[in-house]
Amino acid sequence: MQRFTGTNEALEFLAWQLKAGQLVAIPTETVYGLAADALNEQACREIFAVKGRPLIDPLIVHVGSVAAAHRLAHWSPIAIELANRFWPGPLTLVLPKQEIVPDLVTAGRPTVALRMPRHSLTLRLLSGYGLNLAAPSANPFGYVSPTTLDHVKVSLGDRLAWGLDGGPCEVGVESTIVAVSETGGVGLLRPGGVPTEALEAVVGAPIEDLRESAAEASTEGLVAPGMLARHYSPRTPIALFVAGEQPKVETGEAVVWQQRPREAPAEGVSAFWLSEDGDLATVARALFGMLRQMDSLPSSRVWFELAPEQGLGRAINDRLRRAAAKR
Ligand code: AMP
Ligand code: MG
Repeated sequence: MQRFTGTNEALEFLAWQLKAGQLVAIPTETVYGLAADALNEQACREIFAVKGRPLIDPLIVHVGSVAAAHRLAHWSPIAIELANRFWPGPLTLVLPKQEIVPDLVTAGRPTVALRMPRHSLTLRLLSGYGLNLAAPSANPFGYVSPTTLDHVKVSLGDRLAWGLDGGPCEVGVESTIVAVSETGGVGLLRPGGVPTEALEAVVGAPIEDLRESAAEASTEGLVAPGMLARHYSPRTPIALFVAGEQPKVETGEAVVWQQRPREAPAEGVSAFWLSEDGDLATVARALFGMLRQMDSLPSSRVWFELAPEQGLGRAINDRLRRAAAKR
């Protein structure tokens, strides 16, 4: 993989590679994406091949403006309100799709997932060159998402020609995904960078959690797969414990706290922390890098302290639970 920084020449070159159907690793504020022209079915097929992603798992399409997104989906008033409030940013809207979106991208669904990211380099690629980019996280399917271009290089560097370096990701966990029905109902498909509380303040009502019904329906190929229980998975076994409790650590294991612990770890136990003071934005930013780091340790098991179940803590805990799910 050849790395580019965000000069005008590099962006122009990468935009033409994308238009020619090539894949490029791109920075976003959530995680690094493996991008292809969303309207080029052959290029999108290559995304699935490189990631080893099953074709039943639909891709998120990244757009450079709300106007560009209108060509790809049918918009209800509440969807427009959500985009106006949270775009560019870590909110993905699942909306009824327009004809031009390839079925491969939506895994045959009548809906398409759309997001306008807020990383300045990727925004310049999208809006400066009129691109719509299908981009799942740039990691082999099921492994931990990348939050630096180095992470991308380690796991996909041999299979990918081009990468755009935009520095470490500002948010560090993926977007919040909501489905907006034609009648204006808003349901949660994945907790992420925009807290549910912030969405509820705009919608003016509690947001229904669709995760369980989506998971059930997916076995029949109806609603959303990708909400797979096991995901974000390092090779070292992960165990979880509730915030404020003591984990049952044994010698040779490691503990990862939400914030710097006051006491030294027991003999033979390694201790790490995701933030100094428990700030959830800091924890989210550090989380995937920590999961990767734990894979390079000799520890036989790593205990992660869960975050409080509020705000960004919901997305953090969702990723931790999936990282810990049984093989
Ligand atoms: P990511 O793996 O971060 O690229 O996120 C993609 C996820 O978005 C998929 O695994 C699905 O769960 C969800 N998604 C994408 N498109 C749709 C859709 N049309 N309907 C429901 N969920 C979708
Ligand atoms: Mg992913």
